Amino acid sequence: MRILTRKIWRAFPELDKYEDDVCRRYIRHAQRARNIGVGSAQVVIAMLVGLVVWAGLMFNYDAISFYLEARYDIEIFDMVDGIVSDLFIALRITGYIWFPVLCMLIARDRWLNRCIRKQLSGIKCGACGYSLIGLALIEDAPDPAVTCPECGHRVVLSEMGITQADIDPTTLAKD
Ligand SMILES: [Zn+2]
Repeated sequence: MRILTRKIWRAFPELDKYEDDVCRRYIRHAQRARNIGVGSAQVVIAMLVGLVVWAGLMFNYDAISFYLEARYDIEIFDMVDGIVSDLFIALRITGYIWFPVLCMLIARDRWLNRCIRKQLSGIKCGACGYSLIGLALIEDAPDPAVTCPECGHRVVLSEMGITQADIDPTTLAKD
């Protein structure tokens, strides 16, 4: 389920050449390479923080709206209450749900972003830093290896602690 629209992998030009389906598998691969427990914990904490923050806002709603209106010399809260009060009240009450969920989704996006970034930074040519993603393995090599197209360096995957799946997302098995 993705509510925060954009396809997160499209923020990474290295993945441009791959279909969405391949990118999804690659991201799952990247997540597994990191600590999923830590990622899940961050999402749960974000939800709890969201809940506490919203409860705090609502508990102090009168004081906060009074303060903001006095500070900025506006009457927006009274106005909104007058015009669409039912909707506004519904937003405030349901905020106990949508605000923590929003926090969760943001935390999840940040975690996924971090996973992809780390994954991609771990597959760069050791000599020049060129991204090795999408390169074909050298045929007949004793150990899986690729040649960096940028500097010609021969990169043996096992020496970098990576496998073919790390540089070629299309080889990842479908779930
Ligand atoms: Zn290189």
